[in-house]
Amino acid sequence: MSNSLYTISHIAGILGIKSFEKQNDAIISNLVIDSRSVIDPEYSLFFALKGQRDGHDFLKDAYASGIRNFVISDARYKDLFADASMLVVPDVLAALQALSKYKRNQYDLKVLGITGSNGKTIVKEWLYQLLATDFNIIRSPKSFNSQIGVSLSVWEIAAENTLGIFEAGISKTDEMESLADIIQPNVGILTNLGEAHAEGFSSAKEKLLEKLKFCEGADLFIYSPEYTSGLSMADLPGKKKFSWSIKQKADLEILFIEPVDGKNYIRANFEGKEIECLIPFSDQASVENGIICWATLLALGYAPEEADKRLEKLTRVSMRLELKNGINQCSVIDDSYSADISSLAIALDFLNLQNQHPKKTLILSDLQETGKTKEVLYAEIAALLKQKHVDRLIGIGPHIDESAALFDMEASFFEDTQAFIDNFPALHFNNETILVKGARKFEFERISKLMAQKVHDTVMEIDLNALAGNLQFYRNKLHPGIKIMAMVKAFSYGSGSFEIANLLQYHKVDYLAVAYADEGISLRKAGIKLPIMVMSPEPSAFDAIVRYKLEPEIYNLEILQRFIGFLQDDQYPIHLKIDTGMHRLGFEEPDLPELLQVLSETTKVKVASVFSHLVGSEDGLHDEFTRHQVDRFTAMTDLIAEALHYRFIRHISNTSGISRHADAQLDMVRLGIGLYGFDAALKNNAGLQTVAILKTTITQVKQLKPNETVGYGRKGLLPQGGTIATVKIGYADGYSRAFGNGVGCMLVKGKLAPTVGVICMDMCMLDVTGLDVKTGDEVIVFNDQLTISRLADQIGTIPYEILTNVSQRVKRVYFYE
Ligand SMILES: *Cc1c(COP(=O)(O)O)cnc(C)c1O
Repeated sequence: MSNSLYTISHIAGILGIKSFEKQNDAIISNLVIDSRSVIDPEYSLFFALKGQRDGHDFLKDAYASGIRNFVISDARYKDLFADASMLVVPDVLAALQALSKYKRNQYDLKVLGITGSNGKTIVKEWLYQLLATDFNIIRSPKSFNSQIGVSLSVWEIAAENTLGIFEAGISKTDEMESLADIIQPNVGILTNLGEAHAEGFSSAKEKLLEKLKFCEGADLFIYSPEYTSGLSMADLPGKKKFSWSIKQKADLEILFIEPVDGKNYIRANFEGKEIECLIPFSDQASVENGIICWATLLALGYAPEEADKRLEKLTRVSMRLELKNGINQCSVIDDSYSADISSLAIALDFLNLQNQHPKKTLILSDLQETGKTKEVLYAEIAALLKQKHVDRLIGIGPHIDESAALFDMEASFFEDTQAFIDNFPALHFNNETILVKGARKFEFERISKLMAQKVHDTVMEIDLNALAGNLQFYRNKLHPGIKIMAMVKAFSYGSGSFEIANLLQYHKVDYLAVAYADEGISLRKAGIKLPIMVMSPEPSAFDAIVRYKLEPEIYNLEILQRFIGFLQDDQYPIHLKIDTGMHRLGFEEPDLPELLQVLSETTKVKVASVFSHLVGSEDGLHDEFTRHQVDRFTAMTDLIAEALHYRFIRHISNTSGISRHADAQLDMVRLGIGLYGFDAALKNNAGLQTVAILKTTITQVKQLKPNETVGYGRKGLLPQGGTIATVKIGYADGYSRAFGNGVGCMLVKGKLAPTVGVICMDMCMLDVTGLDVKTGDEVIVFNDQLTISRLADQIGTIPYEILTNVSQRVKRVYFYE
C-alpha cells in the first residue's frame, strides 16, 4: 500500500463526479485494470477500460476477487452490485489519467522522463542502479510506458520519493502530450531512435517534433544530434540541453570505443578535457545505452571520475521470468529482475498462472523497499503471500528471518544463501511450483542452479509473451463474440504442454483441442479447466475421456454408437466432424439422415459443436474451393440444426482461414500454427512474433587440412581445409538428415555456418572457417533471423514439421515478462 490514501469520495471529487451512491467510504491505494491481478482488493479501485476487451465484461470477476469500488463508463452497470461504489465517467482511461496527474501534482519531486524507440527500459533500470544511493527512487515497473502503464506507474509516487524515473512510449505521436502531462519530466532523455523516422524527410521532422513534445516543459534535455538531424537548436525542447555523440561535436563527444575483455573502454571530450569510462558490456546496444547514462550523470553534475566508478558496476537487466523443469517433478520460476514488492506481485501472478502443481512455494530474500519500515514491509509481504495462495515460504536474509512470526504458512528461514544451500537436501522439494526471487546480493542464481534439472546444451526457448501477442493478433481479426478454440495438439506444436495451456487459459480462450486423450489427461492433471476436444478418441480411451471430462470428436457412426453404448449419464458433449472436401475424417452428406436418426433417439450425448476443416485457406488459388467448403458446411449444419432443436457451435476456420476469410468465422475459429508465429497467408508472417528459439552449443573445434573429409561416408569435404565445429544436435533431436552436406546452416557468432557432411544422430558438424569460435560457444539453430520458415524452405517442408519435430529430449525453457 502506498502511503497517500484517498477515500472514494475524494476520488469522485477529483474526477468531477457530483453524485454517486457511496456504499462505504473506502480508502483507495491501488488502481487495478486486470481482475486477475489484485493485491489488496479492499483498497483497490477497478477501472473498466475499453481496450482489446471491454473491462465491463470483467466487473463480476473483479467483484469476486473482493473489489468493491469501480470506475465505469457504461451506466447500465451502475447498480450491478448492491454493496459496491460505482463511479460513472464518460471515459475510463481519461479518468485513470486524471487521477495520476492529480497525484503527480501533489509532489514536487525531480522526475527523469525517458523516451525513444529503443533502450528506454534498460536506460531506466540502469539510471536506477546508478542513482539509487543518492535518491529515494520511484520508477516504472518493467516496461510500463503506455497510456495505461504510465498512469499506473505515476500513481505509485509517494511522499518519501525524491526522484522519479519514468519511461514514455513513442509509438502513437498524438499520445505524447498526455504522457507529458502525467509524467511532467524535469529532465527529458531521448534514447535511440530506430528506423521509424527514416521515411520522407519533412514528415519525419514533423513526427520527431511531435515526439519531443514529451520533453517540452523540461529544464534539461539530454539527446544525441545523430537522432535529431533536420532540427535546429530552437526546435529542441528544454531550457538547457546536453548532447552526446559518437560522430560529431557534442557536450560529450566520444573519441573512441575499444573492446577489452568483454567490456568497452570509452574516451570522450567533456568540458575541454579528455575523460574515460568503462562500460561492462560488449554489445553495441549496451554501449549506446551506457553512453546515454554517462551523459545523464554528467549532465546532472556528477564528476567524471564518480560517473566512471558507477558505470563500471552496471549489471545486466533481465526483465524476464524464466520457467524450467526442476528436480523431483518441480517447476522452477526464476525471477532476477528486481527485488521490490511490485515485481514480487507480478511474479506471484505468474506463479498462479502456471498452476500445474497444487503446491506453490516461494524462496524469497530480504527485499529493499525504500521508505518503508521493516515492520510495515514484511507485514505487507505476508498479506500478499496469503492473498496469492503461497503454500510454503523459504525466507533468506536477516530481516525476513526476524519477521518470521508474520508468515502464517509452512515456512523455514535462513540467515543467508549458504545456510539454505547447506540445508537443501533436508527441505525435500517435491512436486511443487517454486518461485525463486532474490535481491542481487543474495546470489540466488546459486539456488536456481541447485533446483533446475540439468539442462542439456540444446534448449528450445519459448517466449510466452510472444505467444500471447500472437493470440491477440488473431483476436483483433475476429468479429465480436466469436469464440476461439486453441489447437494444442502435438505438444502444442512442439512448444510445450501445460505451460502453453495455462497461458491460454489465463488469456481466456474458449476451448482447447488435442489429438489424443493422453494429451488431454495431462492438461487436466496440470489444472486446466477449459473444455478440451479430443480429435482421435479411441474406444480404449473412452473411460479416461469421461473421467477427465474430455470431449470427443465424432467422425463416423461406428464411433458414435460405441460412445453412446459406453456412456452411463446423459447429455455428454460431443463434436461432430463434417467432411466438406478434405476427405480424411468426417460425415459426408449421404451419412446425415442416419446420423440424425441416431442422435434423435438418444439423450446420452449432446452436440456441443459441428465443424469441418479447410484444405487450402492460405492460398488464393483455392478460394473457390474454400467457398464451396463453407457453403457445403452451412448447408449440412442447417440440416443438423433443424433436426436437433438446440444450439451448437459451428466452426471451420484454421489460422489462415482467420487471416483470409473473414466471412468464415461462423461461431468459433480454430487457431493453431498462428499462435506459434506462422501463417502461410501472411507475407513473411508479418505482424506475428517469434515464439520459439532453438539453441545448441559447440562441443569441439577441429582444424582440417585440404582434402580431409568429415563424418560418415566421407561426405563432407573442404577442398581448401578449414575449421569445423561439432555441435550437440542431431536427427534424434529433430534436426533432419536433409539438412546435411551444406543444405542447412546455423548462426554462429552472428554469421551463417553451413553444415558439413551428414547429420549424425546426436550431433553434426559446421564449417566455421574464419570465425573465432571455441568449445562451449552458443549456436542458434533457429530464431527470429534464421527463421523456421527458412529452414522449412531449405528442406522442402513446412514450418509445422520443423516445429513438431524438435524432440522431447530437447528441454523447453519458458520466458515471461
Ligand atoms: C491442426 C488443426 C487446426 C489448426 O490448423 P492451423 O493451420 O495450424 O491453424 C484446425 N483444425 C483442425 C481439425 C486441426 O487438426
